[in-house]
Amino acid sequence: MEYSLKKDLDCLEQLLQSALSEGLLYLGQLHELPTSVSVNETIQPNLNALGKGGAATLEEFKTRYRQLMVASTGPRYWGFVTGGTTPAALMGDMLASVYDQNTQTSSGQGDVSALVELETVQLLLDFFGLPENYLGGFVTGATMSNFTCLGVARQWLGKQSGFDIAKEGVSGHLPVLSATPHSSSIKALSMLGLGSQNIRLVPVMEPTREAIDLQALEKTIESLHGQPFILISSGGTVNTVDFDDFSGIAQLKRKYNFWWHIDAAFGGFAAVSPEHAHLLNGWEEADSITIDGHKWLNVPYESAFFFVRDEHKYLQVETFQNSNAPYLGDPLENFNYLNLLPENSRRFRALPAWFTLKAYGKEGYREIIERNIQAAQMLGEFIQNSDAFELLAPVRLNTVCFSLKEETKVQPFLNTLNNRGKVFMTPTVFHQRKGIRAALVNWRTTEEDVNLVIEEMQLVIRQISEN
Ligand SMILES: *Cc1c(COP(=O)(O)O)cnc(C)c1O
Repeated sequence: MEYSLKKDLDCLEQLLQSALSEGLLYLGQLHELPTSVSVNETIQPNLNALGKGGAATLEEFKTRYRQLMVASTGPRYWGFVTGGTTPAALMGDMLASVYDQNTQTSSGQGDVSALVELETVQLLLDFFGLPENYLGGFVTGATMSNFTCLGVARQWLGKQSGFDIAKEGVSGHLPVLSATPHSSSIKALSMLGLGSQNIRLVPVMEPTREAIDLQALEKTIESLHGQPFILISSGGTVNTVDFDDFSGIAQLKRKYNFWWHIDAAFGGFAAVSPEHAHLLNGWEEADSITIDGHKWLNVPYESAFFFVRDEHKYLQVETFQNSNAPYLGDPLENFNYLNLLPENSRRFRALPAWFTLKAYGKEGYREIIERNIQAAQMLGEFIQNSDAFELLAPVRLNTVCFSLKEETKVQPFLNTLNNRGKVFMTPTVFHQRKGIRAALVNWRTTEEDVNLVIEEMQLVIRQISEN
């Protein structure tokens, strides 16, 4: 064994403790650390012939990169839709790296990490109040979950006309309908050969909404003259967290032949709050559902899961099986995840989710979800009552989409606010208006954080009007 490798093996415990101490130092300072940094670090591309060992490598990391680690897992990182990591999720994630299982099979010889994944999928179905007849699995993010679900949808669509698209490839234009699809679903259509331009946009209910207009949807369906199609619906759009009317869509599904996919990347968590669960009424009839783990479940990146109705299990295997040989037997009996989703080798991705679900339960999550919603409403009320800001849409759940009354000041305001490093928000465009989005999905966020951000916003408004 090479010298530094042998030396590291001999002091493994000490090395891991030093990495843990470094991590704890970061977590201990999380409330004070900046939410954004400016980067001057230049890349050093040359690799030494002789390694320096773990301890010296940690020192180099500390010198060059430690101060560039932003508080993205902290309570005021409201850009994109960025979750944090609960203590138990972190425990599970660390152990997933330690165990380093290749999570594929759930039975027979080899490891049984997939059994933990299947159990976690059942816990999640229970958590979301969904029926048991979904086959679920973990992928890296909602983008890959949308890809997985739409991959099976594509196979279904081909079968409606007697084609095996997984084997024969896509030919011609296949209809996909949606009102406000997330960019990642459009990306999935590109990757699947369905063509991002082939999506047919159905009108939304009214100008301030992002939810699909059901009458317009039915008219579009009628214009297809019975041709089967895929419907991508939204369970929480990113700008205004609008929900398509799932009960209405469920009724249409009884009348027309289509694959119903729901992207509920973060909006699915409304199911955990009795006051908001109605937003999802009817979703239990969807063919496939996407939900992110690294957003509101507060497990580390990269984690998301899909649920595909298990009556489609053969289509799912046709789409993702890792060989050209005909599949042997029932895919749910000869279970192997590599025949059911894009990745072959996979990390033990379910473990952090399993830990955090077991540790905090439905009540723990209800409290986090409702606290985040309340915090968003508090911020929304401040904006509504202020002279400088205005809401671009009502605060429906956990996201505040707003602008400045003077639109030319939006960018300078956002730049100054983000540069100060106390809070991070992202720019958006909503109905041709330049806007700003704050999405609250972190388990640490409290009322105090909202008050601190409100003070920051007022201070920045004063600053930019002086200039
Ligand atoms: C975040 C998000 C995605 C993409 O998720 P990733 O985890 O970044 O791949 C898809 N759909 C919706 C509604 C989202 O909010």
